[in-house]
Amino acid sequence: MVQTYKKRIFVETEYMGANVSCISTKKGLVLIDSPFLPRDAEDWASRIRELTGQDIAYLINTDHHFDHVMGNAVLTENVICHSTAAKGISFLGNKQALKQIIRGAFPDVLADIEPDIDNLDIVSPLITFEKRLTLDMGDATIILEFVAGHSPGTILVYLAEDRAVFTGDTVEAQFPYFGQAHFSAWKETLRKILLMDIEVVVPGHGPVGGKEMVEKYACFFQNLEEEVKDFELKGLTIEEMVEKSGVINFFPKDEVAREGLPQSWIGEQYKTAARVILAESKN
Ligand SMILES: [Zn+2]
Repeated sequence: MVQTYKKRIFVETEYMGANVSCISTKKGLVLIDSPFLPRDAEDWASRIRELTGQDIAYLINTDHHFDHVMGNAVLTENVICHSTAAKGISFLGNKQALKQIIRGAFPDVLADIEPDIDNLDIVSPLITFEKRLTLDMGDATIILEFVAGHSPGTILVYLAEDRAVFTGDTVEAQFPYFGQAHFSAWKETLRKILLMDIEVVVPGHGPVGGKEMVEKYACFFQNLEEEVKDFELKGLTIEEMVEKSGVINFFPKDEVAREGLPQSWIGEQYKTAARVILAESKN
């Protein structure tokens, strides 16, 4: 069900994959991320048009991961993202690679959507930037800013008038993908978000909340790092760390189950995180 915040921010958290948002402005709709499944992208397109009577002006991708960008083609060609994310989006044009990635996270849905993937038009973004970009939408100042940590092209989207932040996967309510992570930079980004003047926090995955969500996520990072370093001191291998980990269950099981991520995928992310944390601590 579409949720409304500050009268003009619409968020859907229940599609499979990432959260999607829409800001209604004087100059049209600004979308943040797109649904993973093509049928959800079509549903989203008709819902936001019904709710607002407006057309899409721009779509912002908070990173290039498939679950945030696959529905782009259904929504608009006016895509804005970080310049590194744009390269990642082009890479998804390699359909074999794309299928392989989807198989890892959502093994049960791949067969169903394979024809859609074959027909999927991966649009290269219209506007890219490196550090910061401001969209003046008349009654909405939307600030896009690169934030290090989750991926080399992750951005934060801030709607100044409504003190709302769309964090992308920098903040989630589930165990995150660590495949491209820079752990200490990610922690630093969370610290910076905690200093911002914000009221509404729309995470990359999971329910919408306030600043407490960012605090909880920072706490998860802290616990994860402490656990991995403690395991290292005790001489555990990466495989043994996953077995013994308590932090792997930091997020409520029902949330994880709703998203449908297999435990094996979460285990892989834990191992990647452990390797990254240990490598960074030796530098
Ligand atoms: Zn991501």
